[in-house]
Amino acid sequence: MSRYFSSKYEKLTPYVPGEQPKDMKYIKLNTNESPFPPSEKAVKAAAEEALNLRLYPDPELTALSRSFASAYGVGERNVIFSNGSDDLLNFAFMAFCDNETGAAFPDITYGFYPVFAEFNNIDYKEIPLKDDFTIDIEDYKGLKRTIFIANPNAPTGIALAPEEIEKIIIANPDNIVVIDEAYVDFGAESCVPLTEKYDNLLVIGTFSKSRSMAGARLGYAIGNEELINDLNTIRFSTNPYNINRMTMAAGIGVLEDPEYTKNNCLTIIKNREYTVNELKKLGFTMTDSRANFVFARKPEVSGEKLYLELKKRGVLVRHFAKDRIDDYLRITIGTSDEMKSLVDAVRIILEEM
Ligand code: PMP
Repeated sequence: MSRYFSSKYEKLTPYVPGEQPKDMKYIKLNTNESPFPPSEKAVKAAAEEALNLRLYPDPELTALSRSFASAYGVGERNVIFSNGSDDLLNFAFMAFCDNETGAAFPDITYGFYPVFAEFNNIDYKEIPLKDDFTIDIEDYKGLKRTIFIANPNAPTGIALAPEEIEKIIIANPDNIVVIDEAYVDFGAESCVPLTEKYDNLLVIGTFSKSRSMAGARLGYAIGNEELINDLNTIRFSTNPYNINRMTMAAGIGVLEDPEYTKNNCLTIIKNREYTVNELKKLGFTMTDSRANFVFARKPEVSGEKLYLELKKRGVLVRHFAKDRIDDYLRITIGTSDEMKSLVDAVRIILEEM
């Protein structure tokens, strides 16, 4: 740390993204990316838009908002975009939390939430998940805090039904409930329809996973117009050009290709079922994941050791050195060949042990 670094941030522990080692070619199952290329329509639109890079992008994101609103059945004024959904999550902490209103989220969830809370100097409460890693919605009633719930949750993949989330929204009428739907397209049910009914619900999502656009960085939030205006106040006060021209064009392109996205999601779900079944045969236990990853452990086998052995064999998965989940691996679902390689590598490692 330099002696010039603001004391505001000196205690900040930054988020650690999944590793991207360059020493060999890995089967990369550690950051929940899509194994499929982006839609050809997205690629073509982005390439054409490259010719216009001399010009700033449209800060109102008019064309993207129009396409998105029609695809999601929401109003154009009910949506905002950001440079990856991480940015919008941060905006939500900035906009809807302060000295009086802290944040609350599960103890096991997306690791960026506590970082955003600390970055914004917001008091936060981590609410323990039950032993089976499910949420007890009673814990979220009348909290008087801004609530952040990833649904499906990460890294467990477990999803709550919208009816359950609705109970949390109703029980916190004076606070915002943020539902992070980064993984919703892989078999969970979206809360977007509830945004019409409740002005304290904000749904955040991303084009990074089901739409194969992690590298383009495109996130969105859907909610009541006033909430979106608040988030736009933050956006226009930090970076009104937060979505670049090529990303905007790619976003419109992929929205014009819903069949492609749907088929990729179906393939991921099929490959997830295969992985779950094969790992079960090898003695693993897993959560009921509705995401593009599984969360698995083998009793009596160290999660860290398994992670390191897989890495040695060229398969990258995610291990969290964190209480309660230390023995679990989060394994992204890739192509069927990738999942066969993963299962084979695990089998060999267990035999050698
Ligand atoms: N929410 C959750 C639960 C995630 O796992 C991720 C991906 N790391 C994100 C949000 C952010 O995704 P992105 O910034 O790529 O849109």
